[in-house]
Amino acid sequence: MMIRHPKLKMVIVEKENALAKHQTGHNSGVVHAGIYYKPGSMKAKLCVEGLKLSYEYFCKHDVPHNKVGKLIVAQNKDQVKRLDDLYDRGLKNNVPDLQLVEKDCISKYEPKCQGEKALWSPWTGIVDWALVCKHFAQDFEKMGGKIFLNYEVTGFSEMTESKGKGELAPISVQSKDRCVPTKYVLTCAGLHSDRLAVMTGCDLSPRIVPFRGEYLLLSENKKHLCTTNIYPVPDPRFPFLGVHFTPRMNSEIWLGPNAVLAFAREGYRWRDVNIKDCLEMAKFPGLYKLCFRYFIPGCKEIIKSIFYPLAVIDLKKFIPEVSVKDIKRGPAGVRAQALDNNGNLVDDFVFDGGKGSLGARVVHCRNAPSPAATSSMAIAKFIADKLDADFKF
Ligand SMILES: Cc1cc2nc3c(=O)[nH]c(=O)nc-3n(C[C@H](O)[C@H](O)[C@H](O)COP(=O)(O)OP(=O)(O)OC[C@H]3O[C@@H](n4cnc5c(N)ncnc54)[C@H](O)[C@@H]3O)c2cc1C
Repeated sequence: MMIRHPKLKMVIVEKENALAKHQTGHNSGVVHAGIYYKPGSMKAKLCVEGLKLSYEYFCKHDVPHNKVGKLIVAQNKDQVKRLDDLYDRGLKNNVPDLQLVEKDCISKYEPKCQGEKALWSPWTGIVDWALVCKHFAQDFEKMGGKIFLNYEVTGFSEMTESKGKGELAPISVQSKDRCVPTKYVLTCAGLHSDRLAVMTGCDLSPRIVPFRGEYLLLSENKKHLCTTNIYPVPDPRFPFLGVHFTPRMNSEIWLGPNAVLAFAREGYRWRDVNIKDCLEMAKFPGLYKLCFRYFIPGCKEIIKSIFYPLAVIDLKKFIPEVSVKDIKRGPAGVRAQALDNNGNLVDDFVFDGGKGSLGARVVHCRNAPSPAATSSMAIAKFIADKLDADFKF
């Protein structure tokens, strides 16, 4: 918005003492190419556009990144069929330079990797998304934007004055001890996006349910086994991409993430429990329906999370040289998974406005799951168009 409207005064408020403390700073660090997403969906369009914009930005601003590529590897006949479907989907989404790779050629792309067939995506890359966020923040401040940290939004209210400041900035964005007057609001609150939407009169649905994604780390002496991203063929029942091998910009290799229900919206460990979050989940029928539907796979994920060496069974299918002694527990991220009242996982990006005179001045980014980091610059363009249209800047 500031690039389009340099005179606009903008403020970012963030509840933490730094930016990117949650999903943006706790993710796989992959620059996705846009293969998986339903053709025509916002995810498909904005990921492919975001990929291009991201690489342009990284090159222009010297953001360290590496186009290491990605192999999606099928391990059996059923997965080969789904892999072929993924290839078609990738072509429909205009993913650049996708190639199917026959069994004997997989080792040309990753020498120690094996499988029945694979899909090679040379444009998939890696980057530190928290660092990218820092660059965005610097650009924002250079253009005159202000960032208020330690500012937890607790509510929005309309000012009643008929003249003066109230007219120019009729909304007050409140925190415990401060408030910012403004004319318009855009919220992008990740794990709390539903709570902020409700504050402006929006529907409670879709609700956010936190799903932790835990990673394992590959030991120093086995790092050479993985030079590119290696992904399984995803299970179509779940929105998650499955446990993958991912090289990081700091030269670590992360294995994961799994997907287990977290007992706190910012619950990065099993012992992180937030009573308010748990009570809300306990009252939400959509979660019961989801748990009932995915009871067996859910239990399997929990068992593998607790007894993490069991994950080696899956990892070995791709790289047989990996053994239990080569892995240890690593960091975790928490996904803001949007869920409807029937327990359906909301897959696509969701943007929403509020109701009444307050709501008419607000846009909420309610669901921005993976690949929203990759898509961030395209999402920004999409939102800027929406704000221009809705608010007539
Ligand atoms: C485990 C995992 C792996 C992922 N891997 C990838 C990947 O490889 N590639 C990719 O493209 N995407 C990936 N993603 C998705 C990506 O990280 C997210 O889609 C993206 O970071 C979402 O950004 P966001 O700004 O919406 O949310 P966040 O980064 O969570 O930011 C929301 C911010 O809002 C703040 N906030 C919340 N409530 C308030 C309040 N009341 N007042 C003030 N501030 C508030 C929070 O403190 C937070 O800083 C992954 C996500 C996870 C969890």
